[in-house]
Amino acid sequence: MSLTITLLGTGGAQLVPVFGCECDACARARRNAAYRRAPCSGMVQFNDAITLLDAGIPDLMEQFPAGQFRQFLLTHYHMDHVQGLFPLRWGVGKTLPVYGPPDEHGCDDLFKHPGLLDFSHTVEPFVVFDLQGLQVTPLPLNHSKLTFGYLLETAHSRVAWLTDTAGLPDKTQKFLLNNCPQLLVIDCSHEPRKQIPKNHNDLNAVIALNAAINCPRVILTHISHVFDQWMMKNPLPAGFEAGYDGMRIVLD
Ligand SMILES: [Zn+2]
Ligand SMILES: [Zn+2]
Ligand SMILES: [Zn+2]
Repeated sequence: MSLTITLLGTGGAQLVPVFGCECDACARARRNAAYRRAPCSGMVQFNDAITLLDAGIPDLMEQFPAGQFRQFLLTHYHMDHVQGLFPLRWGVGKTLPVYGPPDEHGCDDLFKHPGLLDFSHTVEPFVVFDLQGLQVTPLPLNHSKLTFGYLLETAHSRVAWLTDTAGLPDKTQKFLLNNCPQLLVIDCSHEPRKQIPKNHNDLNAVIALNAAINCPRVILTHISHVFDQWMMKNPLPAGFEAGYDGMRIVLD
């Protein structure tokens, strides 16, 4: 049984192209839709069950009609990761479980008016839970709101999804070193900077993290238009790839 991860969106809250921006990266994305970046999110398929990892795609319910997926797994309650839930909650039919961090504030009135979403599935750091045979471990991240990344594990494969974050807490970094994921999908919002930015990684921070974790394949996501411009002129180091919307990764 293979594990498939599809990157539905690889941008930040600003998206690519950026409203009003004429830079090379934004102009390219307007010319060619393949270079557009929707809000950072993914689709995880295992044992014929689909989990939507974050829900920031504005037309989420057009892309995923009722019955096509089993649950949501949320990293955190920033708008660019949950805005697709707002209209969807007023749907009719079966309740949809939402797994995520125990953030008592959530986002706007989602908890007050959940509609058909069931937010009771809060998860705890480093406590493994099961989604239709997929083993999931929440990993605390460094962000401006309570945020968990996730290790997704089957009998044969291990993937870590790490957004949004600036660096990693020591415990999470040690956990990743000990558990050797074969793939990291990680927040790399910014081009290389002298200092690590506050809420998101730059490329230097991701390179430094992986020097410690030693994962053979690192896919960058949550990418800004400025980082896209940088990548139009500079190659990424071996082992690092820029994610793109629609990118599909199949693991045994
Ligand atoms: Zn974000
Ligand atoms: Zn731009
Ligand atoms: Zn965020």
